[in-house]
Order: sequence, then C-alpha cells, then structure tokens
Amino acid sequence: MRTLLLSLTLAGLLLSGCSPLPAPAVQPTQAQPAPPSPTQPPATPPQPTALAATPAAVPSPDEATPVAAPTSQGGSLPGGAIETLDPQAIIAATLRPDAPAWLIPADPELADMTRYRLDVTLAPDLSTLTGHEQIRYTNRETVALDVIYLHLFPNLWDGGLQTTDVRVNGQPITPTLPSGDDILGLPLAFPLPPGDSVELGLSFSIAIPAGEGVGNYGEFAYQEGVLALAHFYPTVAVYDAQGWRIETPSPQGDVIYADASLYEVTFTAPMNLTVVASGATLDHAAAGEGEAIWQLVGGPMRDFNIAASADYQKVSLQVGDVTVNHYYMTKDAAQGQAVLNWTIAALGLYQRDHGPYPYQELDVVETATSAGGIEYPGMVVVASWLYRDPNQRDFFQSATAHEVAHQWWYNVVGNDQLNAPWLDEALAQYSTYLYYLDAYGQTGGQGFLNAMDARWARVGHAAKPIGLPVGEYVNREYGAIVYGRGPLFLVALREQIGADKMTEFLRQYYHDDAWGIATPAEFQTLAEAVSGQDLDALFQEWVYP
Ligand SMILES: [Zn+2]
Repeated sequence: MRTLLLSLTLAGLLLSGCSPLPAPAVQPTQAQPAPPSPTQPPATPPQPTALAATPAAVPSPDEATPVAAPTSQGGSLPGGAIETLDPQAIIAATLRPDAPAWLIPADPELADMTRYRLDVTLAPDLSTLTGHEQIRYTNRETVALDVIYLHLFPNLWDGGLQTTDVRVNGQPITPTLPSGDDILGLPLAFPLPPGDSVELGLSFSIAIPAGEGVGNYGEFAYQEGVLALAHFYPTVAVYDAQGWRIETPSPQGDVIYADASLYEVTFTAPMNLTVVASGATLDHAAAGEGEAIWQLVGGPMRDFNIAASADYQKVSLQVGDVTVNHYYMTKDAAQGQAVLNWTIAALGLYQRDHGPYPYQELDVVETATSAGGIEYPGMVVVASWLYRDPNQRDFFQSATAHEVAHQWWYNVVGNDQLNAPWLDEALAQYSTYLYYLDAYGQTGGQGFLNAMDARWARVGHAAKPIGLPVGEYVNREYGAIVYGRGPLFLVALREQIGADKMTEFLRQYYHDDAWGIATPAEFQTLAEAVSGQDLDALFQEWVYP
C-alpha cells in the first residue's frame, strides 16, 4: 500500500532536481494521499551505528585527515609563485582509500590540473568576503593561449565582486571586462604554449546578498540563518573545441562548465559557525577574537562550495570508507534521519549500478535555496522549504536522490551544463528512477515515470529535443523537456538496448569519462559501441533538433 500511495503521490507533484526553479507559488489544491511515514526509510538502509548530533553554535569540523605538511614552493599571496600542497596530499585527503586506480588521476594528469589557492575571510556580520586567490593554470590545449578568462559569478547575482591587484606571473596587469562584469580577462604578455603553466593572482572582495529572493535562488546569499557561498571565487573558464567559453549562463540553469581542479582554501570565519565544504577539512583552529580558521582541500572536483550556519546539527553514518553527513537546521531535526537514510540508499544503489563514489565524504546540507536542491562536488544541498511542507515529501525524497546522482553525472563525468544540460540532468533523473525501482519496486518505478510524463505534459508532450542549450527553452519548457522528457528518453534507450546493456553502458561511460568532460556525441558513440546497435534514429527522435 505504501508504494501504491507513493506512485499516486508522485504523479501529481512537481519534480525538479537542481534546476534552480523557485518553489511553486501555488500549492496543489487537490488533496494528496498521505505521504509515506516520515520515519519510514525508502528501502532497508543500514542502521546508523553512530548518531552524532552537534549542539548548535559549536563548530563541528569534518574529520581531520593527516596529510603531509604544506610545502612552500616560494612566493606569497597574492603575487608570485603559488604556495601549494603536494597534489598527492590533496587527493590523499579527498579521495577514498578504496578508490579504484582509474578514479585516481595519474601524476602527469594531476600535475596539469588547474590549482586554486584561496585565502578568504568572512566578516563578523557575514556581509562581506575578502581575500586572495592564486591559480596555476596549465595550457592543456593544442594551441597557444594569449589570455585566460575567469568567471566572476557573484556579479550575476546581486553580489558585487571587485578584484584588485591582478597579476600574471607576479607582474601587475590591467584585466579586461569583455562582456559585462561577470567575465575577467587576464591578457598574457606572451602566448602560453601548450604544456606550459602560468600563475595568476588577485585580491577580491564580495558583498554577500542577504534576504529572500536574492543571490541566484539563494545559492549565494545569507538568509534564514544559512550562509550559502556557491561559486563565490573567480573561476577559470573552459577552453574547448569552440575556444574560450565565457557566455553568460541562463538564469534557469546551472552555471558550472569547468575542468576538474585541485583546491586549497583557508577560510577564516566567526567561530560560532559550523562550516561545511566540498572536500576535506585538514585543520580547524581558533584564531583571533571570536574567529576560527578552517584549512580545507579538495580535488579533483569541478567547483568548491562552502555553506555555514550557527544553527547546523549533524547526523552521520560511516558507509565503508565513505562518511555520509547530513547537516540540518535545529527546527528541522525531525527530518534528520530520513534524509540521511535516503542519501545512504541512493549512494549504495548508484555505487552498485554506476560505479564507486570517489570521495571519503559526502555532505547533504539544508540551505534556504528556493530551488529543490543543488549539486556541488562532494556536497549537495536540499531546500529548507522541502523539510517543512509535508505535501512535498515525495519531491523532498526524489530531490535528495537526484542531487546525490549528480556526483556521478556532473562532477566525476563533467559536461557543458549551459549547452548540454540533459547530459547531467536527464541522467540524474534516470538514476532517481532506478532509486525508486530499487526502493519501492516496479510500482515505485512506474510512479516516478508517471511523474516524469506529467512533467512533460505541462508543455503538451511537445516533441522539443532534450539536447538544446538551457537558454533555448522558454518558460516551463526547460523543466518539462530536460527533466521530464529527458529521463523518458533514457528509459526508451534502455528498452531498445536492454536493461543489462544499459547498465553496462553507463558503467563504461562513468569509467571512460571520469574527471573529463563528455559530449552528447561521445555519449551516443559509446552507447552504440556497447549495445552493438545503430541508435541514430532514436537520438534523432529525442535528442537533436
Ligand atoms: Zn539536477
């Protein structure tokens, strides 16, 4: 009966993952069947062996991992040569000990990854963030580069990021603003040959927007007692077959199209905050008056996110060599265990079906975003409004499972989230379908597909391709086509090539494109190679214009 109720409930609900869609303004007027009991886990996840609740207002560092001491390679912030840890120390702190060899970048690949070194301080009133950034960028293209571009994402979202003292190899330069104030161009005195590296340095200050309805759906904002700092730092753009990709992202989609990189972050913040970040915490110590310094590292990852609150509590479970943490607001403690259970069930299923999760830690974090949830490397956020509306319980669960799936589709296997969003969104929805099949059987799986079909029905089942850039979908089309029709395409693909071949294909895709950036053409080519079928007609029907 529970699964029947689930399928009925799912069919009527708005299901959106990390598309930053605002919370629906109008609640369903039709009476909804009772949601599954809040204490009922989705499947039979392992019982917690440790329940670590953190009292409010006491910082709760993630597990400190001993690594080699920092080895200075000369220079000082923000000018000259970057000070960095050995890259092996970063991946030793971040990647799980049991990670297979193919998930661990080899030395040459590691040496060429973009290195970020950030030293930032949060003001006591949480209104500004100031600091320095150093980037070591290695030209992995086949042509010399005469400029490097950085995204200044906060300038898109009420934030105001100002840069000063911009340097290239220690020498002051005058940066350019080629398109508005969200892209910074750093011209190079001499073209950077393939294989060579350049050191970039700058200082910056950011005004953090506060209040409701600001800061990219609350991803970059202080509101309801939660500080969310998504995409706060100047981020290197991707150079691909089309050159530098510096277009402004559509407001309705995700913004990260980035190469897997290595991060070292020194974060100074009021000590009453619990700080949650991508990657690992090497150290956490009191410093100065009422402040604490967090030494954070991460990599390989495509972004580095930080969230913080004085009110976070935490519940954790060790799953093999992965620590799963759920951070939530005190008032939402009733949901603490359920979200952890959903996450653990999703993690277990995706590892069995797609391949191993890469990191030692996975954090699920409640924030005040108006989207359902958002994915970041090693960290997903789920919206506070989902914790508080019992009518949205199935969306709450599906959003959690969807965001966890993005660790496979978006982070390990990257894609152009602006121009090929289906490659991560439709796949994350498909993985969520597998989650419902696994947790609730055929009835649960069909319920999820019915909900996807209902999404597509919002645009009258229009045969609009799922493979368009975010900006080419109008109004409800993005959610309906990419999140609704998209997973139905993958179900059609599975029906054509068979369930076993579909599993084999996705495992191979995850393996072959780990830490790389996949394209739709590569996706089709591999599906055809694994299945031994010509799939062009199917892709033409669903994916391409
Ligand atoms: Zn998503």
